[in-house]
Amino acid sequence: MELLEERIRKDGIVKAGNVLKVDSFINHQIDVKLVNEMGKEFKRIFEGVNINKILTIEASGIGIATIVAQYFDAPVVFAKKTQSINLDGSMYTTKIESFTHKRVYDVIVSKKFLNPEDHILIIDDFLANGCAVNGLIDIIESSGATLEGVGIIIEKGFQDGGKLLRERGIRVESLAIVESMNDETGEITFRHS
Ligand code: 5GP
Repeated sequence: MELLEERIRKDGIVKAGNVLKVDSFINHQIDVKLVNEMGKEFKRIFEGVNINKILTIEASGIGIATIVAQYFDAPVVFAKKTQSINLDGSMYTTKIESFTHKRVYDVIVSKKFLNPEDHILIIDDFLANGCAVNGLIDIIESSGATLEGVGIIIEKGFQDGGKLLRERGIRVESLAIVESMNDETGEITFRHS
């Protein structure tokens, strides 16, 4: 998505440790108009796919998924990070290692909000090693729902998450794929395939 690539080039900041900061339009301040365009683009990409629910993970995913969901006329369910898992069987649970915080979270979704009739689109801001998306897929599998695809705003193509998911036959659509980035020069290149 050209508009997104331009914005990443202009305002994205490359940090050490393969972290791209996009705080001025996605992760801290949100450019609603830009995210709205992303919503239209995801709708175009997934046109004709039966999707009745969007699944994301707190916190950054929520704002984005909510704007995107309007184009699918679907509710957003967000997985919650928690420290104390309630073992009464009312939750689907998994563990996700945070790429940016380097710690493992227990993540939950109430059984009330996912069921075998659901057709799910996962939406998230970044795809790096794939831990977050894999955790969400675990939860979808536990619920018996159908995963229709994964929509990512920025995939870091030099990390393995996207490749491994696609090798499993999962449809992963990223609006921008970073091919390389350099924290010394600030240079960012994109993959166009
Ligand atoms: P993964 O689980 O695929 O390794 O990493 C994806 C998650 O880590 C995303 O939900 C995102 O919050 C965070 N993340 C990974 N890489 C980056 C990055 O370069 N910049 C930002 N802002 N977040 C990232």
